[in-house]
Amino acid sequence: MSFYVYNSYGKTREEFIPIKENHVGLYTCGPTVYNYAHIGNLRTYIFEDTLKKSFEYLKYDVKHVMNITDVGHLQSDADTGEDKMELGAKRENKTVWEIAKYYEDAFFDDCQKLNIKRPTIVCKATDHIAEMIELVQVLERKGYTYIADGNVYFEIDKFPDYNKLANLSMEELEAGSRVEVDENKKNPLDFVLWFTNSKFKNQIMQWDSPWGRGFPGWHLECSAMSIKYLGEKIDIHCGGIDHIPVHHTNEIAQSEAALGHKWVNYWMHGEFLVVDGGKMSKSSGDFLTLTRIVEEGFKPIVYRYFCLQSRYRKQLMFSYDALSDAGQSLKKLKNKIALIKDAVTENETVNSKKLDAFKISFGEQISDDLNMPNAFTVLNDVLKNDELNPLEKITLAEDFDRVFSLDLLKEEVVDISGIDEKLVNELLDERNDARNRKDWAKADEIRDRLNELNIEIVDSKEGASWKLKD
Ligand SMILES: [Zn+2]
Repeated sequence: MSFYVYNSYGKTREEFIPIKENHVGLYTCGPTVYNYAHIGNLRTYIFEDTLKKSFEYLKYDVKHVMNITDVGHLQSDADTGEDKMELGAKRENKTVWEIAKYYEDAFFDDCQKLNIKRPTIVCKATDHIAEMIELVQVLERKGYTYIADGNVYFEIDKFPDYNKLANLSMEELEAGSRVEVDENKKNPLDFVLWFTNSKFKNQIMQWDSPWGRGFPGWHLECSAMSIKYLGEKIDIHCGGIDHIPVHHTNEIAQSEAALGHKWVNYWMHGEFLVVDGGKMSKSSGDFLTLTRIVEEGFKPIVYRYFCLQSRYRKQLMFSYDALSDAGQSLKKLKNKIALIKDAVTENETVNSKKLDAFKISFGEQISDDLNMPNAFTVLNDVLKNDELNPLEKITLAEDFDRVFSLDLLKEEVVDISGIDEKLVNELLDERNDARNRKDWAKADEIRDRLNELNIEIVDSKEGASWKLKD
């Protein structure tokens, strides 16, 4: 079965042709571990996890490499702003190493809750300083670098295809780098490969290099580590769409300049999660985390389901209402499957030939640049198909869930110990207030939220109370 992907490089839908038959070398840009991941970032990791599992479903052997950025990433993706790791350390009065460890653990904790499988190789920037220095040396030998005020820069005018991925004019690309002008740059789009003399004189993470003690520029790590673990030619490189104009553009320039040939065959980018300002008033702080969503009463897996309801290349509008709808819909789906599971009888058998047709239609949808909404349609068609017996339906649901990863066959466990009674009582009071001022929409919204928490409201003359749903 052909697998079609949308290649950001060239902006076309293409048939995926692997470098090595039945193998996929996949590199995905990982988190900068100075703070929690935003749910928008997590959407990208869910997309990449789905991509990997779709290839695996179709019997490809996927080698997935992801980096952990624990050094060198400044506030802007270009060379301006404060150092993110130092910023995190200052904010929390910890060392940069403690910050890195803490947020790396928090990141993988989020991934686990979202059923995101750990990459084959997870590599940290600080463990690969030697490889990065070596890459800069190659670029220096080939004449792509210059030194100004102690820093080593990549000279983009020496790389003619610089703007090919972003497909923007040089003026448009430059717009992002005008905020803080670095007088040392020959072209405002040149970027730092190695910092020795910078405004971060007290940088704690420093290493010796041929150019003096310092630290690498952010983009360097992805080139150095992807080449180390996946070789000089890579099938697919992924990331968030915001990485296109600076980070991935710079990765391509330095990698192809060093290697002397095309580096990555397919670039795939996840679109933004858009947060509707008005409805987000409940959120505190600047960004939403998975923990925050859980505090609002949602299961992490509901967020995964919510993301899978739209295509990765489309912007997705986040709101608690939309998440609540997704929660209801997932619950309905799981209930439907649970009922079918209960109906399985002992002497039922599976006609695997019959199942193959459904597996093929499912495969066709996921290999159509991850058409997950259509993949769910295939599942729903299976569940209501009269020609399949309950065991066959369950077998297919389990099979498709290797890609969805929604624990579709797991029974919901109703456990009172998991209920936050304080939160439930607060919500109930809030609902009473809403009813008193005849704000029925609000009252209904709170009832739905409680519903999501498996709580049923019991209205009586004495007022409202709650119980666990049967
Ligand atoms: Zn990267």
